[in-house]
Amino acid sequence: MSRKPIIAGNWKMNKLQSEAKELFLGIAYFAERFTKEQLPTIVLAPTFTSLAAVESMRCDKCRPLVAIAAQNCNWEKSGAYTGEISVDMIKDAGCEYIIIGHSERRQHFLETDEMINKKAKAILEGGLIPIICCGETLEQREAGITDSHIASQIKAALAGLTEEEISKSVIAYEPIWAIGTGKTCDADEANRVIAMIRNVIKDLSSIAAGDAIRILYGGSVTPSSIEEQMSKSDIDGALVGGASLKIDSFSEIIANTMKVTVK
Ligand code: PEP
Repeated sequence: MSRKPIIAGNWKMNKLQSEAKELFLGIAYFAERFTKEQLPTIVLAPTFTSLAAVESMRCDKCRPLVAIAAQNCNWEKSGAYTGEISVDMIKDAGCEYIIIGHSERRQHFLETDEMINKKAKAILEGGLIPIICCGETLEQREAGITDSHIASQIKAALAGLTEEEISKSVIAYEPIWAIGTGKTCDADEANRVIAMIRNVIKDLSSIAAGDAIRILYGGSVTPSSIEEQMSKSDIDGALVGGASLKIDSFSEIIANTMKVTVK
């Protein structure tokens, strides 16, 4: 079973349009030194206001090498939902992926498992790929309920999806205590949780879907942590926050990912 690695950059609420263009161009310039086969799948998630600016920088050469993503969406197609953005609008802006269920959205914007499931369905129906985030708090980890919490997030997010839809989706395991804190989860422990997620998916859907789905680690990933993380059996890439905001560190994460054999 071979799963192509993914390195995704979540720019969160950072970068004005000119800065977003500069960051995109720096990463695209780095990526253009390699072939699509050599590179991991590269996904960049700018803010909604920078999507068009970044999309306008995607030339014929870099378009297949660097995909773009939104950081959120609404599950409705259109209508009276002030402030919301639909999957079709995001597709129209050039995106291929949408991040959903990030812990910051769950925490600050009260996103529930049910909402995340509706978003996942809308994204797949719209022909895009959801990057579904899950993760435990420090309190949950200390209480020994990490696995049951993550399993319930995964089952809720994927409820009602077909085997094919699950196989093409992406999961990001992001322990909340490791996001933006500099405290990376031990690579063996991240791999253990990710293997557990894969087993939950095998039970929920099929062995083939569990083997096919790409599951990323996220939480203070750096150029120096990625090689060990990527060397683990079940970690298929990374969702990167802070280190995705600089051309050098994100390019180095991509370069170090390429040092590790594809699983
Ligand atoms: C994230 O926000 O998804 C993330 C993993 O952030 P950081 O890499 O900064 O911990």
